[in-house]
Amino acid sequence: MNVPLLDLSYQHQPIQQDIASAISRVVDSNAFILGAEVSKLEKQIADYCGVGSAIGVSSGTDALLVSLMAIGVGPGDEVITTPYTFIATVGCIARLGAKPVFVDIDPVTYNIDPEKIEEKITSKTKAILPVHLYGQCADSASILSTAKKHNLYVVEDAAQAIGAQYHDGRKAGNLGDLGCFSFFPTKNLGCFGDGGMVVTNHPELDERVRVLRVHGSKPKYYHKLIGGNFRLDSLQAAVLNVKFPCLEDWNHQRRENALRYEALFKEKCLTQAQKIQLPQAVYSSSKVPNYHTYNQFVIRVSNRDALREYLREKGIGTEVYYPIPLHFQQCFHYLGHKEGDFPEAEIAAKNTLALPIFPGLKPEQQEYVVQQIKTFFAG
Ligand SMILES: *Cc1c(COP(=O)(O)O)cnc(C)c1O
Repeated sequence: MNVPLLDLSYQHQPIQQDIASAISRVVDSNAFILGAEVSKLEKQIADYCGVGSAIGVSSGTDALLVSLMAIGVGPGDEVITTPYTFIATVGCIARLGAKPVFVDIDPVTYNIDPEKIEEKITSKTKAILPVHLYGQCADSASILSTAKKHNLYVVEDAAQAIGAQYHDGRKAGNLGDLGCFSFFPTKNLGCFGDGGMVVTNHPELDERVRVLRVHGSKPKYYHKLIGGNFRLDSLQAAVLNVKFPCLEDWNHQRRENALRYEALFKEKCLTQAQKIQLPQAVYSSSKVPNYHTYNQFVIRVSNRDALREYLREKGIGTEVYYPIPLHFQQCFHYLGHKEGDFPEAEIAAKNTLALPIFPGLKPEQQEYVVQQIKTFFAG
């Protein structure tokens, strides 16, 4: 049996005709930059997230970059974030000349540990940049109260978390001052190339992001700010407008698949005997757990690399997110970190493994995955 890590054809086949007509409409219009498709998508995403406005941008990376630009992050500033994330989160801080200040992660959620943030705040701290990793919101109540106390901005990296909800019911993107989404094809809502979105409840930040998106231009050819070309293509927005109505169903399917894995792992006694740690949707004081949208279903195992190789031989696709924590990356050597600085991130990088979880994954395929894991540990 073959079980890829991700197969997008299940998402696209049923809506293929609608996508093709949407693309044709844009081609026939000869209008390719921003326009009605982008405005329509912005309105839908803003309503969906429960925020005041949304601004379509060129990628998740540019969503982060333009958000940090909008709050004025620059040389001399510090931005607090996690070392256990995709490079883009931290790259954007450094590209603006600011200093990334890392805080270790919580070992259960893999998100920034809110208890360890306050000790890293200095007079230079400008913002906190939590990541809602794998589709589960970071502990936002705690992060926001720390931010409020010290008068800091909160920019959410919600690239992996569209539709995720914090346990109080608020959606990812609607927790901080600015929320950043990615429509990279592997995300829960993906386009046919690169795309992203910034969401916010602050009209003045909305205005700044909109102006920065078009080279700081307002009116045309008059520039008070230096921006960039951070625009979302009409074609990508048209594809996303067809896909967006399916998002809730796809997220639901991911959650169903997660439940099925949990049942299978328990049935085969793998969680106790082999000490496999399954992903956990957490809650703090509230009774309702976070609404986890499982962009990735990430387990923890002791002999991760051997298991991964074994599963590959058995036709099962897996991935490691992320094998090298960012404080060990060569490009961040100048920050002067050493082994042991962020132990939870370092351990997670060694023993976590993402299993296939995509909508359309079949129960037989999940049974096969869990059976192969069991066989690996039995041998
Ligand atoms: C995908 C991703 C990004 C970057 O998004 P792009 O659209 O690929 O630029 C940023 N942060 C995280 C956590 C991501 O997973």
